[in-house]
Amino acid sequence: MARVGGIEAGGSKCVCAIGSDPSYLDVAEFPTTTPEATIRGLVAFFKERDPVSAIGIGSFGPIDPNPKSPTFGYITSTPKKGWENFDFAGAIRKELGVQVAFDTDVNAAALGEYRWGAAQGLDTFLYLTVGTGIGGGGMVNGRLMHGQTHPEMGHIRIPHDRVNDPFAGTCPYHGDCLEGLACAPAILARWGQAGESLPDDHRAWELEAQYLALGIVNWICTLSPQRIILGGGVLRREKLYALVRAKVVELLAGYVTPPEILPPMLGGRAGVLGAIALALAESPQLLSESQR
Ligand code: ZN
Repeated sequence: MARVGGIEAGGSKCVCAIGSDPSYLDVAEFPTTTPEATIRGLVAFFKERDPVSAIGIGSFGPIDPNPKSPTFGYITSTPKKGWENFDFAGAIRKELGVQVAFDTDVNAAALGEYRWGAAQGLDTFLYLTVGTGIGGGGMVNGRLMHGQTHPEMGHIRIPHDRVNDPFAGTCPYHGDCLEGLACAPAILARWGQAGESLPDDHRAWELEAQYLALGIVNWICTLSPQRIILGGGVLRREKLYALVRAKVVELLAGYVTPPEILPPMLGGRAGVLGAIALALAESPQLLSESQR
């Protein structure tokens, strides 16, 4: 059986795992602190176990995912202290001597859902997460989305009615971009309490659904996804799915048929399984072996 590793690197924690599919995973979690301490923890996890043939990393960003670039594998302009211009993939490669695949956390999760979850059999779909930030990735025509670097879907501009919602937004770069208006810290800052503690009938949820739907209809009209996988901490409020779907229908106004909007099938493991899928995709001989 193929034996590869995956690292899901988030702004507050890293999840690492060894395995080859969702049925068997050896998993551990570490807080994301300084790059040095975090790499030490990750390297120790892999050194304490039998060797792996490749490691996939799905990372918070912005990152450089272009294998032809001299800064491939770097976290680039992140506001997270100490991580700016850090050669993440290089550090893991150097310490463990293995091939390293590197992409955004959301592209990795999208690949995991493609291989084992809610996007099986599709070639154009989106994976969106709404939590500490808002991120989006996915595939177009069967390839993970890349370009100059990678999409930053949370930072699109959407209409912001300042009479209905005078909140200025939390994005340090843009204020009231989608992330600045609709991520978990924005909910906390706007209402003075975390989303988890707001009642189901609070007006926060209508507003949240409106903002997410505004983002989603723009992506539907630009990318024509066959399905949208929507997850992250904020979506633990299950009633949001029905609210978002209804707003999307309303905003599209019958012009385009909306695709299905579903939670990730791999749940909280989508990220680390996606990182494993990145490693498998990097190793074609391992891929065919694991499919036998
Ligand atoms: Zn922004």
